[in-house]
Amino acid sequence: MASNRTLTILKPDCVLKGKEGEVIAQIQKAGFKIIAMKMVRLTPATAGGFYEVHKERPFYGELCEFMSSGPCVPIILEKENAVADFRKLIGATDPAEAEEGTIRKLYADSKAENIVHGSDSDENAQIESAYFFAKSEEVANLG
Ligand code: ADP
Ligand code: MG
Repeated sequence: MASNRTLTILKPDCVLKGKEGEVIAQIQKAGFKIIAMKMVRLTPATAGGFYEVHKERPFYGELCEFMSSGPCVPIILEKENAVADFRKLIGATDPAEAEEGTIRKLYADSKAENIVHGSDSDENAQIESAYFFAKSEEVANLG
């Protein structure tokens, strides 16, 4: 069964451009509810842990460097069919291939610096959310 949650990160290029507010507004307009959110500065090691599945890929070093180059904003989002709907909202990994109107098409410069992360499965959404947030930080649990 779908968990109805996904994990996004407004990546360092998004924060550097000052587009956090605009991107969050688009995410909310698309019907996603914010469950938890914080601003953090990752180290190359914590970025590397997050993207461990890609550690054999040629771009892994560049990715860890980029993700630790400045603050970023991890956010847990909730919506029916969250994982698939959020991937649709952000568009393809490479903004050049992303559909018109998607967040990456609108704001991203390159396949490497592509503004936002989005979980690719319910299982990974849960693992990635736990990477950044304690259960006690999820507003849904605060009553
Ligand atoms: P997505 O973020 O769309 O799920 P992937 O999981 O394939 O994409 O890759 C994770 C992240 O690694 C991408 O969002 C992007 O920042 C970076 N990346 C992916 N492919 C490349 C590439 N060919 N060159 C540089 N960076 C890349
Ligand atoms: Mg991915």
